[in-house]
Amino acid sequence: MFHNTSMTQPFNCTACGKCCHNLKIALSVQESIDWIERSNQIQIICEAIPWLNEPNPLDEVVRYKKNISVAAISGSLPIRVLIYFVGFFEGACPNLQKNNQCGVYSDRPLTCRIYPAEINPFIEMNPLQKACPDEAWIASDDLLTPVMQSDILQYRQSAIEEIESKAHVCDDLKIDVASIANQAYVIHTPDQKKLMQSLKNCKTKRDADIHNSWKIKTHVLESQQTLQAMGAVCQSFDVDVDSDVQYVRF
Ligand code: SF4
Ligand code: SF4
Repeated sequence: MFHNTSMTQPFNCTACGKCCHNLKIALSVQESIDWIERSNQIQIICEAIPWLNEPNPLDEVVRYKKNISVAAISGSLPIRVLIYFVGFFEGACPNLQKNNQCGVYSDRPLTCRIYPAEINPFIEMNPLQKACPDEAWIASDDLLTPVMQSDILQYRQSAIEEIESKAHVCDDLKIDVASIANQAYVIHTPDQKKLMQSLKNCKTKRDADIHNSWKIKTHVLESQQTLQAMGAVCQSFDVDVDSDVQYVRF
């Protein structure tokens, strides 16, 4: 059950603009195209989950992870890969105007429309982890308006529908390194012109066109040894230092 769509939380945005700073905004394929067309940059975050056996289909968390990931292989180990396209910026968002108003307000990404609610249905929204000031939480409106609930559902649906397209983009750009999910992020910064071309082509490709065999990067020696024993191809996080690939530990 997507529990946080029914949660009520008093909230009233103060338009402080804090949520428009130092972010990675998860984007759909079309939002990524729009983001690059505005001369902004996209990164690609990849996480892998070993998937030896099909888990209990009644387990809602596992079913959610399966739905938003793509089946793949690392060496001889079956895995699933989570792929996120993110608009990133340090400091203020390039779309934020001097008056703290969004310069693309009517076309802003779904993630911006949803904030500070959670996209993941299994994460409870915690005001303490949000950028919003205290006064935003003591107003009497409900955070989850019907419009916001609809945006959340739309985002989740597009995450499911577009995962194969995102895998095709990775395949096209030879992006084949992922972290272990919940241990770290591997963040790729591809050439933006090539990425744009792949984004425009990815929806026309068939599932069978995917060729990548993934490498799993980890800073935990035990994880590396376990995965290699299971047949995976691993990379230590301190090898292959590549400015286009960052490894960010949690
Ligand atoms: S696109 Fe607009 S709402 Fe989203 S982070 Fe940038 S300025 Fe803020
Ligand atoms: S940080 Fe919170 S209160 Fe401030 S603009 Fe963003 S959503 Fe509104």
